[in-house]
Amino acid sequence: AGGSAEQFRGKARLPSFAAPRRYELFLRPDLVACTFSGSVAISVAVSAPTRFLVLNALDLSVNRASIRFQALAPTEVVFFKDDGVLVLGFAKQLPLGEGVLKMDFTGILNDQMRGFYRSKYQYKGKERNMAVTQFESVDARRCFPCWDEPAFKAKFKLTLEVPSELVALSNMPVANATFAGPIKTVHYQESPPMSTYLVAIVVGLFEYVEGMTTKGTRVRVYTQIGKSNQGKFALDVGVKSLNLYKDYFDTPFPLPKLDMVAIPDFAAGAMENYGLVTYREVALLFDDKSSSASSKQSVAITVAHELAHQWFGNLVTMEWWTHLWLNEGFATWMSHLAVDSFFPQWNIWAQFLDRTTTALRLDSLEASHPIEVEIHHASEVDQIFDAISYDKGASVIRMLQSYLGAERFQWKH
Ligand SMILES: [Zn+2]
Repeated sequence: AGGSAEQFRGKARLPSFAAPRRYELFLRPDLVACTFSGSVAISVAVSAPTRFLVLNALDLSVNRASIRFQALAPTEVVFFKDDGVLVLGFAKQLPLGEGVLKMDFTGILNDQMRGFYRSKYQYKGKERNMAVTQFESVDARRCFPCWDEPAFKAKFKLTLEVPSELVALSNMPVANATFAGPIKTVHYQESPPMSTYLVAIVVGLFEYVEGMTTKGTRVRVYTQIGKSNQGKFALDVGVKSLNLYKDYFDTPFPLPKLDMVAIPDFAAGAMENYGLVTYREVALLFDDKSSSASSKQSVAITVAHELAHQWFGNLVTMEWWTHLWLNEGFATWMSHLAVDSFFPQWNIWAQFLDRTTTALRLDSLEASHPIEVEIHHASEVDQIFDAISYDKGASVIRMLQSYLGAERFQWKH
């Protein structure tokens, strides 16, 4: 691409002449000031002649002087705020092949429950902050500059600098940590290729309960201090779900560990981040003494749904948001299959019918949409997370399974 940066404004998708292969991401959240600073080194494969690199960044202050592609400094740095796009123009065409793009940036730990944000909790009568991410659909760009589309999968190697006394979780297990008094630097193992919307970080005070799958995958449920007993039911469903899905998909759980965390301030019900699933507290915690039977069922359905995504959505991912219904419809359908096998006495498929009916009622409105929706801009994605994508979508999957037969649908050998 020659021409000016302006050609990249208002586009549905990023251009494909350059693609990320690997991110080395360093983040230092300040839980008192509610800010963060970071740096990223992205291995980028340039596959066609261009003098531009075009990626996503939003509400970040990028230090322009720090930007380098290999040894080259950009001659042009342009933000298209409405698109969340950052265009870097260089004086000459970039060499084809792989190079490393580096930059430093700062941001705010916001209270909008998206991007890298601050959640509050009480500890020993005092209010404290935790740092949490929520990136689906298009908010990874609020935490670090990246190619923020599901098809641009890359490996992630994260490093966090956080207060020593806090628990710091990410998608992958800790590789090693070094302590310098009140501050620790935590290095995580490198992830397999994954989409940006599934990257996750949680930093706060937690305790946990732990279990193990039949294949030895470690599963933990993290809760506020004093609440870990309420995580035991979700842990049990989580371990059972991983065991069932490994057999159903005939594919092992793709990561070395799975953590599930209850977050006090959380926008959705739950989020299937790869290896680090985040939940609203009511969607994960169950108290035998005070919780209702219906909340027990909804915890089971939610956990089974998010863990189905670890294969369907995370390991295998929709190319673009147009196919969100397949991601969500499948996880919704699969969660009922799993819960029905764990708790046959619940007759959960009868409740599935309730969900379908609710979706069809919404579908009867003039403002309805097909389950598959053309997405022309990042700003349109969040609108399609509704009962039509999830529950009508799940119903279509169930029809397909019934038509093909359970064995053929599963592709049993
Ligand atoms: Zn889902």
